Amino acid sequence: MTPYDATDDFLTARSLSPARAPLVDPFGRRIEYVRVSVTDRCDLRCAYCMPERMQFLPRAEVLSLEELSRVCTVFVGLGTRKLRLTGGEPLVRKGFMELVESISRHLRRGALDELTLTTNGTNLDRFAADLARCGVKRINVSLDTLNPETFRRLTRGGDLDKVMAGLDAADAAGLKVKINTVALKADNLADIPDLVAWAHGRGFDLTLIETMPLGVVDEDRTEQFVSLDQVRQTLASIWTLEGDAYATGGPARYVRLAETGGRVGFITPMSHNFCDTCNRVRVTCTGTLHTCLGQDDATDLRGALRSHPGDDAPLVEAIRGAIAVKPKGHDFHIARDARPSVARHMSTTGG
Ligand code: SAM
Ligand code: SF4
Repeated sequence: MTPYDATDDFLTARSLSPARAPLVDPFGRRIEYVRVSVTDRCDLRCAYCMPERMQFLPRAEVLSLEELSRVCTVFVGLGTRKLRLTGGEPLVRKGFMELVESISRHLRRGALDELTLTTNGTNLDRFAADLARCGVKRINVSLDTLNPETFRRLTRGGDLDKVMAGLDAADAAGLKVKINTVALKADNLADIPDLVAWAHGRGFDLTLIETMPLGVVDEDRTEQFVSLDQVRQTLASIWTLEGDAYATGGPARYVRLAETGGRVGFITPMSHNFCDTCNRVRVTCTGTLHTCLGQDDATDLRGALRSHPGDDAPLVEAIRGAIAVKPKGHDFHIARDARPSVARHMSTTGG
């Protein structure tokens, strides 16, 4: 990757006077957190995320590493303090570490508070040390079961040992790990207490997620949906749940388990909407800006990127235009035989 010159594009963005104002949406929410999907491709095929025969995007539609770096830099210039790289599986993107290195300069000069990523962990053993060296401190690793057979079935072929090796490498590199677990009625509901005990035993917090109706998958999501209110009750029958004011800037609400000292987060887009405090937007690997995970709103940034290689002003204008109409919230619902609320898959939008 030819390093995209951070200083130049950052200064370009800053020197435009309208660009200096922070990004604030019509509901007064300050947008300081951007999730960037660096690829729609993945080495796994989690049943709730994508169909077995997933149609991936043509490469020409996907932003280059330079374009991804430039988008991130422009957002930093507009007041973004936290960047999360995601996918698809971010660690299967060729040249991924070059992108991380490029973005990490914003950490070093104090323009960015946090650079983090969400990964399935299968390749983490090869990346953990380099990520730590680039200033990444925390990562989210998605893991829905500790049973190798269930893992293989749920991910359609994944090897749990690889994830475990990735977690060991993250530990060794000093990365703080949070486990993300999608609660699935048929596949892991009964095992969630074991997962929590295991995660806390290893010093990892764990966040539970309700399955969301994003994109068509092969299975019927109503069969798998479970409200986290129910899971919370189960956990409360085993451990003492204490309120915890801990916030990561994300949508999770946390409790601490008195007996383990670890935290459990709950992301409940279906049973409790978390939109009031939403400070996030998402950029897909094709350069589409989505200001709400649960709405079909979309702004193309790729056109501005590609038609104006040396001028960030059109990109800034497109971003500002999108934030000016960020929806108040989502209206997800899961109903039998209903179309997904949002047509795009989570692997396209980025989790
Ligand atoms: N491949 C990486 C991973 O699995 O962590 C990053 C991308 S993945 C799309 C991000 C997160 O979205 C994962 O924690 C995954 O479990 C979650 N996810 C995917 N599809 C989902 C859905 N339909 N509802 C809720 N969470 C979903
Ligand atoms: Fe891949 Fe992550 Fe989707 Fe699983 S959840 S298929 S690991 S993108």
